[in-house]
Formats: sequence, structure tokens, C-alpha cells
Amino acid sequence: MAKGRKRRSLILWLSIPFAALITLLALMALRLMLLPDTAHSEKQQAITGAMAGAYSHPIDGEAALMRLSQALQFQTISTENPADRDASAFAAFHAFLADHFPLVHARAERIDLGSDALFFKLAGSKPTLPGSVLMAHQDVVPIEPGTDQDWQHPPFSGAIADGHIWGRGAMDDKGALLAILEALELLLADGFEPERTLWLAFGADEEVGGENGAVKIATWLSEHDIPIAFALDEGLAVLHGITPGVSAPVAMVGLAEKGSMTIRLSAQEDGGHSSMPPRISAPGRLAKALTRLERNPMPASLDGIPAQMLVRLAPHMDFPLDLITANLWLTEALVIDQFSAAPSSNSMIRTTTAITMLQAGFKSNVLAQTAEATINFRLRPGDSGQDILDHVRRVIDDEAITIHGTDEEAQPASPISSTQSAAFSVLERSIAKSFPDALLAPGLVIAATDGRHFTKAADDVYRFSPMRLHPDDLARLHGTNERLKIDNYLEMIGFYAELINATDQN
Ligand SMILES: [Zn+2]
Repeated sequence: MAKGRKRRSLILWLSIPFAALITLLALMALRLMLLPDTAHSEKQQAITGAMAGAYSHPIDGEAALMRLSQALQFQTISTENPADRDASAFAAFHAFLADHFPLVHARAERIDLGSDALFFKLAGSKPTLPGSVLMAHQDVVPIEPGTDQDWQHPPFSGAIADGHIWGRGAMDDKGALLAILEALELLLADGFEPERTLWLAFGADEEVGGENGAVKIATWLSEHDIPIAFALDEGLAVLHGITPGVSAPVAMVGLAEKGSMTIRLSAQEDGGHSSMPPRISAPGRLAKALTRLERNPMPASLDGIPAQMLVRLAPHMDFPLDLITANLWLTEALVIDQFSAAPSSNSMIRTTTAITMLQAGFKSNVLAQTAEATINFRLRPGDSGQDILDHVRRVIDDEAITIHGTDEEAQPASPISSTQSAAFSVLERSIAKSFPDALLAPGLVIAATDGRHFTKAADDVYRFSPMRLHPDDLARLHGTNERLKIDNYLEMIGFYAELINATDQN
């Protein structure tokens, strides 16, 4: 009897947290159901938009493909040492473009900024309306010495084989550059007469910083007070099987890109013979500091772009990720833990710390007097150079380590572009029409693009290439066997034609 009462009261006690848990789960589920399906609603609009008259024009795919193939054969390589640059390759590439895109070259004015950058203005009939800038870059990175033989088709062959077009620049970024020109050539052939001015900004030095390309173009636009609603550059893409928990492809539009800051740490100790070492050496002291830095990363946060992305994708995630993601108010710590576990997702939620160079000692039996480390941080929006310096000082907690670096040397993350602008909704609709199988979500670009130079010249800068990327494609960017799927290239042309047309009608 007593036993029975005890059991009942135990059940009663257990049932309270159980009831609370059920209520909590119901609340979480409700929250998931109430999330607006913004990743899909644009698609509905797109379908009605398509019926109201989407831009469509038959593309001569074979001819377009041949042009991209030829474009990939020009060795427009950006070299670290400017003296190694082959200027004739860029000149030949320009002549090739002029030959093959006669309408663009006849109708658009090329503004010469004294470099290899191609900067075109297609004047609109209403010059007071804000214009737009479509960006891509002509230059490519070199082939890593000794890896030529690993390519299935030679890197500058432009080979068309196995449903792909092969070569350095196919993905980064000649595919986009040629697709923009194909789209505009098609539109002009169709009698396109824009109201808004369209600018094409094709830098020739993106891979080495963009000083002679994007920087000059953006400065020119600012100095001439040209109103620009948006600039669209490379950055993110249509991702297949890359977004955890989402089986559909995700067209991810970069709203911002991370910044960068490099500091040096040094430790100094007395030198001398290695037979009589001190308790702690300069390299030992430095190593301790570096270990602390790696174990104590900068704080993570989902605020801003990661939260925007998760909220959009939550309704399309598999269980239980959908429930977890829809309830960040409760699960934020858990989600941050999950993101922190993999380098790619970790880089989206915090300023990352990368120890890149180490230097100490010169002889095996001599104590090093100095030990030095170089550390590269990639700043998330919101973190400043000073935040990093404060963090490093606090974590290292060693007066004997000198920190070399100042707040002024930091290049902060770019501003975050709006998802509420008219330009963003045009972009969204154009993506939905061209990639009806894909969801759309905002994202943060973790590498640097030319787009960062346009944040003053344009109201908003979006970073999206209409390129489909699968997990195994990521290593092809700047790597071996760079290639673009033929069908995807045709989609890219369609996307840019749609976007140019829709932007003008907006
Ligand atoms: Zn690129």
C-alpha cells in the first residue's frame, strides 16, 4: 500500500516535467509552423510572374558554349609579382570579346580607366533612375606547379567533354563573365532598350586585390555621383547537398563578406648554448600563447546573417533540425555548438583564428632569442580590430609576449546588404525563375570578393553566382579539374537575361 502510494507520487512528480516537456515541444512545433516560408513564397510569385510574361529567348547553346571554350583558352593569369603578368593575354581576350559580342560593344560605351579592367556603360533612357552593376573578373589564379598532369583535360584547353566545359576560370569567374555578355547580347538583339543604366564591371586583378579593377571602377562611380541600386558579384551559389539538414538545393545570396586582420606575436629570451636551456624558451613561451589562442576562439553568435539564413531554411529542414532551428530562442547554444564543430560552418558564426606562419631559431644547438608567429583573423560583421587585440591580450595573459598590430590595420567585414530592398526582391524572383528547384537564403561570404570595393558606390551589394555547386566542386575552385556543367552554363545565361530585364522593368 505504502509502496503503491510512493509509486503514484513518483509518477505524479515525473509527470510534471513530462507535461512541461510536451508543452515545450508543442510550443516549438507551433513556432516552426508559424515561421513564414520565405524560402518558397517567392517561387509562387515567380510562377505568376512567369505567366505575366517572363523574359524568354532561345539561346544558341552550342555557339555560346564554343565562345566560353575559347575564352578559357586565354591565359589571363593574375600573378603575385606584377612583372610576371602577361598583358598580351588580356589584350587578346579583349579583342576576342569585341569580336564575339558586337552588339554589346557597339551599344555600350567602354570607359577606360588605364588598366586591363573592362568597364562598360549601357546608358538608360532615364539617367536619374538608379542603375545596376553586374560584376565578374577576367583574371584567373595560376595552376599550382606540378599539378598540370592531374587535370582530366588540360587547364587552358576549354575542352567540352562529359557534359562539362573544362578549364581554369570555368567556375571562377569567366563562366559568369561570358554568361553576362551572352545575356546582354541576346537582349540587345531582341531590341532591349533599357530605362535604367546598366554597368558592367569586369576587373582583371580580382585574385590579387582588385586595386586596378574594382577599386578604380567603384571610385569612378562614386566620384561621378552615379546612383547605383545594387551591384551583383560572385560569392555564393546554388548549393547542392552542402547545407546541413536541407535536401533541396539552396541558392545562397551573400549579403556581406568577412573582413581580415593579420597580427604578429613575438617572444624574446636570452640566447645561448642549448646544453644549458632556461626553464622556458622563446619558442616554448610562444607555443603556449598560440595553444591558448586556438583553444579560446573569438565568441560566436548567430545574430545577423546566420539567424536570417536559419529562419528561412527551418521549414525545409529534416526532423529534428527543423524544430531545433525554428526555436533559436531555446536552442541557440546547441546550434552554435553544432556550427562550431566544422570549419566551414564555424567560419560563418565567429571571427576565426588561423596561425599561418612560425619562425624561430637557426641552428640545432643554439637557443633561439626570438620566436615569432603570424596569425590571420577573418572578422565577422560586428567585430573590430580592437575587439581582436583585446581578446588576444586577455587570452594569452602573458606580458612577455609582444603583440604587433593595430586596430587601423584591420579590414572590417563589409556592411550587411538589405533583404528588404526592391533590388533584392528582383534578384529573388530572377533566381526563382531560373532555379525553380532551389530554395533561397541569405548567407555570409567567408572569402574576399571584388564586391567589397562597391559598398560605398552601391546601395546594396549582393554576392551570388548562378552556378550549381556540389560538395566535390568546392576543391575545384582555385584547384584541379575546374569545370562547369554545360546545362548549368545555359541556366546562367538565362538567369542574367532574366535579371537584366526584370531589373529594368522594376
Ligand atoms: Zn573569383
